[in-house]
Amino acid sequence: MELPWLTPVRESFCGQLMTGQQGHAYLLGIHQGYGGMQLAETLAQASLCMSPTQSGGCGVCKSCQLFIAGNHPDCYFVEADGNQIKVDQVRELCQKLTATAQQGGRRVAVIKNCERLNTAAANALLKTLEEPGKGTLLLLQSDTPSRLMATISSRCQRLHCQLPSREAVQDWLAAQFTLSSDVTWCLPVVGGPVDLLIALNDGRYEALIGLRKAWVQSLSSGHLCANLTNIDEKQVSDALKVLYVVLRQKLVKQKNADALINIKITKFAAKVMDTYHSLSMMPNVNFMAVFQSFILEYQSLTTS
Ligand SMILES: [Zn+2]
Repeated sequence: MELPWLTPVRESFCGQLMTGQQGHAYLLGIHQGYGGMQLAETLAQASLCMSPTQSGGCGVCKSCQLFIAGNHPDCYFVEADGNQIKVDQVRELCQKLTATAQQGGRRVAVIKNCERLNTAAANALLKTLEEPGKGTLLLLQSDTPSRLMATISSRCQRLHCQLPSREAVQDWLAAQFTLSSDVTWCLPVVGGPVDLLIALNDGRYEALIGLRKAWVQSLSSGHLCANLTNIDEKQVSDALKVLYVVLRQKLVKQKNADALINIKITKFAAKVMDTYHSLSMMPNVNFMAVFQSFILEYQSLTTS
C-alpha cells in the first residue's frame, strides 16, 4: 500500500543511508494509523539491504528476501507484552544487539509503540542508546511521542512527517474505495487513514455512522436511544470516541454561541475522553448508566 505522505521522510532517510550519514537511533513519532509501522519496516529493510535505493530496499538481494519472508536473523521486533514493554524484553534485545550480525551487515531493532516502555525498560534501553554497538540501528515507533520519556527521545534523531490534510486523506481513500460522502470525520476515532480504509472494508465504518447518529439524537432528545442501549462491550470505546467527535463538532458549528457554554462543553468532551482512556482500568462498569449520565450532564450544560 502506497502512503504518499511518508515518501519525503523515507527518501531523506534512504539518502542518509546511501551517503553513509545514518545515525544509530531514530524516533518515528508517526501514528500507526498513518503508517508508522509500515515506515519502520521500510526503513529497517532499507538499512539491511545490500544495495538500497532512494525509495528503500532493492527487494531482490538476499537480505531483502530474508526480510520480506520475515526471517532476517539480524532484525528484531519488540512490542508491548500486554500494555507495557517490559524490562526483560529490552534486556533480551540489548543482548542480541551485541552479537555479531549473521548476515555481515547491520543489526536493526524496531520497537513498536515505544511510549509503552515502562520505567525499568526505558532505563535498560538508555545504555544501548548511548553506546550502540557498531552497525546497530534502533527504530522507535510511537503513536504518542509526547508521552515518551525525555531521556529516551533526546537520544534519538526525530524523523518528521507532514501529515496529510483531510482533503488529501479523502482523495487517497477515494482512489481505493467508492465513497459517497466525506468519511474523514471519524479519523480521530479510528486513528488514521490506514485504519479508516480497513474500517470501510470491514463494516466498522458503518457502525461508527450508526453511533454518530445515535449520539446526535440522544443529545438532542435527552434520552439514550435504542442503538446505544444495546451495543456490545467491544463497541464501548468506539461509542465514547464518537461522542467526543460529536461534541467537538458541536463546538465548531456554534462558534458564536455563549462562550461559557462552549467552555463547559469543552470540559465535558475532555471528561468523555478521560473515561475512554480509563476503560482498561474499569472492568464491570455499567456503561448504559455512564452513557445515561453523559446525556443528562449534556442537557444540564446546555439548558442552564
Ligand atoms: Zn536489497
